[in-house]
Amino acid sequence: MAKFYLTTPLYYVNSKLHVGHTYTTLFSDAVIRYKKAMGFDTFFLTGSDEHGQKIFEAAREKNITPQQLADENVSYFKELWKLLNVKYDKFIRTTDEYHEKRVRDVLQKLYNKGDIYKGKYEAYHCIPCESFWNEKQLTDGKCPTCGGEVKWEEQENYFFKISKYKDIIREKLKSDPNLIRPRIRYNEIMGKLDDSMDDKSISRSHFDWGVRLPFDDSQVCYVWFDAILNYITAIGYSDDMEMFNRYWPADIHVIGKDILWFHTLFWFSILEALDIPLPTVYAHGYWLLKGGKMSKRSGVVVDPFELVDKYGIDPLRFFLLSELSEGSDTEFSEERLVGKFNTELVNIVSNTLHRTLTMVEKYLDGSLDYIIENTDMEDKLIAEYEKRREEYIRNFDNFKLPQAIDAVMDFLRYINGYINDAAPFKSGKDDKNRTAAILYTVLEAVRNVSLMLYPIIPDTANKILERLNCKNKIDLKKDLEWGRLDKKSIYKKDEPIFMRLK
Ligand SMILES: [Zn+2]
Repeated sequence: MAKFYLTTPLYYVNSKLHVGHTYTTLFSDAVIRYKKAMGFDTFFLTGSDEHGQKIFEAAREKNITPQQLADENVSYFKELWKLLNVKYDKFIRTTDEYHEKRVRDVLQKLYNKGDIYKGKYEAYHCIPCESFWNEKQLTDGKCPTCGGEVKWEEQENYFFKISKYKDIIREKLKSDPNLIRPRIRYNEIMGKLDDSMDDKSISRSHFDWGVRLPFDDSQVCYVWFDAILNYITAIGYSDDMEMFNRYWPADIHVIGKDILWFHTLFWFSILEALDIPLPTVYAHGYWLLKGGKMSKRSGVVVDPFELVDKYGIDPLRFFLLSELSEGSDTEFSEERLVGKFNTELVNIVSNTLHRTLTMVEKYLDGSLDYIIENTDMEDKLIAEYEKRREEYIRNFDNFKLPQAIDAVMDFLRYINGYINDAAPFKSGKDDKNRTAAILYTVLEAVRNVSLMLYPIIPDTANKILERLNCKNKIDLKKDLEWGRLDKKSIYKKDEPIFMRLK
């Protein structure tokens, strides 16, 4: 069985999450549901990043310990993922004992190898981002990630030899551009490669909220170095290599584009130093609010709990996953969320099902057990289905979720056209065989549609499958074959799955 290992970033425990983080995790959940339903041995990792100066200071301000602050926010993260129906396999915390131990193993290994050395550290520090930059990396003298003020700092501490791995990483990226997706992000990193691979300080001595260096206990490990190792420590590196080898390399590290450098040039250098194969990184764009970037610092956020409360889980999942195209940024808007829900989920998905089940009951007493003979119209619909299914799979395999969803919605629109043309309301009770043939075709099409929508809106898909008497463990390879709807079942009209939102 082929494996598929997916990770989200570790969310930083200094504050609450917004729609951007929610999107990253929902995207991950949809991809993993799809892969699992396609028969992969999947592993879905998420978690929390808990060390560093920012946490240390935020906790001090609230008069609690950093651990207490982390615990509070971890409960909140887990509550949100549960609410949104996110099914991860593991939640790693960077304060977990096994993680800290494995981080120390890695540090020692790199120190012994000579890839970590003591030196004088001078850089521009952005405290909110916990990032350090050289002159060339700054944007107009400000932090290139958040645009905030940076501070010049000098300290004696330990460095990681990124520069040593510059050439090999350049070669590897050249020979496999798919290591960084989509292509626009790959190009961005290739353009930065020459100027951004200086050796990097990976320890701090002015506070103690972090993993202590095994070779110098007066210093703690830089939070980014410790946190990024989670992708390998969570699956066993370096003392459970059986588990590690089962899943590594990650098939996709899902991230927002603001942390691309850390997840590529920085992370790839560490992996090269450890002699571990490189993973694939996928960076999505931003959700914008009134044209600006949504960030925890700007205070302009949309609270995901409030959104679920107002609109429900699947409408939110559907909107977020169908609207943000790879490579671009998209404006978040509640009006668009409502519009999308009404025109697609209510008018097309819910109404098609409800209308058809109503006719099955009205004309055929809930049974499809007639002599079903397909005409050209049905053959054409099946051909259309096969085309759209192929489109759906190709796009989902390439993480192009909006295009995969479009393929499904286009097919649904085709089904609606077919209902109007085939006109089961005309053959009605007079020609039950013909009416059954049409309604069987529609319900079978809807069954396939709901399977394809399952990774995006799992609760809704399960509800539809239940009404079509075929709710089982989902196996897309088998279930997406045409003709698996049970003719012998009794189909009942029910309340519509969705009602319009105002
Ligand atoms: Zn910053």
